[in-house]
Amino acid sequence: MDKKIPYKIYLSEDEIPTQWYNVRADMKNKPAPLINPGTGQPLTLEDLNPIFCEDLNKQELDNETPYFDIPQEIQDFYKMYRPSPLIRAYFLEKALGTPAHIYYKFEGNNTSGSHKLNSSIAQAYYAKKQGLKGVTTETGAGQWGTALSMACSYFDLDCKVYMVKCSYEQKPFRREVMRTYGATVTPSPSMTTQVGKKILSEHPDTTGSLGCAISEAVEAAVTNPGYRYVLGSVLNQVLLHQTIIGLETQKALKKYDIKPDIIIGCAGGGSNLGGLATPFIGEMLRGEADYKVIAVEPASCPSFTRGKYAYDFCDTGMICPLAKMYTLGSQFIPSANHAGGLRFHGMSPILSQLYHDGLFEARAVEQTAVFEAATQFARVEGILPAPESSHAIRVAIDEALKCKETGEAKNIVFGLTGTGYFDLYAYEQYNSKTMTDVIPSDETIAEYLAKLPKVGNE
Ligand SMILES: *Cc1c(COP(=O)(O)O)cnc(C)c1O
Repeated sequence: MDKKIPYKIYLSEDEIPTQWYNVRADMKNKPAPLINPGTGQPLTLEDLNPIFCEDLNKQELDNETPYFDIPQEIQDFYKMYRPSPLIRAYFLEKALGTPAHIYYKFEGNNTSGSHKLNSSIAQAYYAKKQGLKGVTTETGAGQWGTALSMACSYFDLDCKVYMVKCSYEQKPFRREVMRTYGATVTPSPSMTTQVGKKILSEHPDTTGSLGCAISEAVEAAVTNPGYRYVLGSVLNQVLLHQTIIGLETQKALKKYDIKPDIIIGCAGGGSNLGGLATPFIGEMLRGEADYKVIAVEPASCPSFTRGKYAYDFCDTGMICPLAKMYTLGSQFIPSANHAGGLRFHGMSPILSQLYHDGLFEARAVEQTAVFEAATQFARVEGILPAPESSHAIRVAIDEALKCKETGEAKNIVFGLTGTGYFDLYAYEQYNSKTMTDVIPSDETIAEYLAKLPKVGNE
């Protein structure tokens, strides 16, 4: 073992960053604004305030302020489970026989089991500050709903969660964690909203999707006084809160003078990748450094690698604003891939613009290859990774194996976003060799892309 660099690089509590970083301030080409599907005009604070919390809307629309102070209450909460460790994967390196140095930032050390708590606590804080009664949201795999229910119980807010039906059925334990923290959990699509009823009448057998649950949660927020809708990914504000991951990583690496060559993150809506990578991409934008950043997505839901950069709805019900992003079309319902958190048709507008401008690359990987990497990782590093996170592990291993061929000792950093204890059905399928890879055909993708809205794309 390399004695100089410890297995875990911890920061002290006092070293937790006290500001979030807003990469938009350093972007020459700003992400395209959200637009109102009715008018085709960019959304204003007045448009957003009835749906989302006021302070969060200010963060959403702010393309200029490079750093936002983290309110003291949020800093205090962060101390409960942060700083998260940056771990040198000595055992994985040894198992692979690679000269590469592999590091991973582990965000699974909290009850919600993922990085999502970093933003849910911020969103609950601003909702409370505004004097709201509660918030509504959707959850796919259940991590966001769990993270939000923890945050809401901390600030004594009501929490209504619409959970994608297949996850509700496959993950009863995650549901019970949410209920334990006081949230109400409804399987989506449901008969409790107009949009849910409409979707069910058209597709009675649907197992739901994130896009569809979003539509229901938004409707519940605007029809219940004192409620607002909150979202666990995609939005600019979520990427902003998640930069705590990348800022801590930068500090930890600096302690040992480590310069990363490759930075890897899985990409569902883009929040963990954005959170980990944008502080580094900021250095690239300012001309201070150069890194190779890789987004990893499931081959069953390949927004970056096979989608189109266009304005689209963020939800299946087509009631949300339009965002310009890499999308597969809001009506695209991905196959029941086991990485529920990566089953979203679109992508963060910030990351979409950065990708469009060539600041990072993207790769799509198949789920059997992902679980192979997950298993290999679990056996040597001890942590049972979430299927979503394992997409990043797959590519980190691939890159480390390339280093083995070339003999290069590159520094590879990847985000290990969470743990997989609630994903054991997926592991069961992999272990029993019944897992399959479903990859949409070009025709299917073209069919959904043909249905993109006209507004914004003319
Ligand atoms: C939600 C989730 C993701 C994907 O969401 P992003 O917004 O793309 O980060 C990845 N990993 C885990 C463990 C998650 O819960």
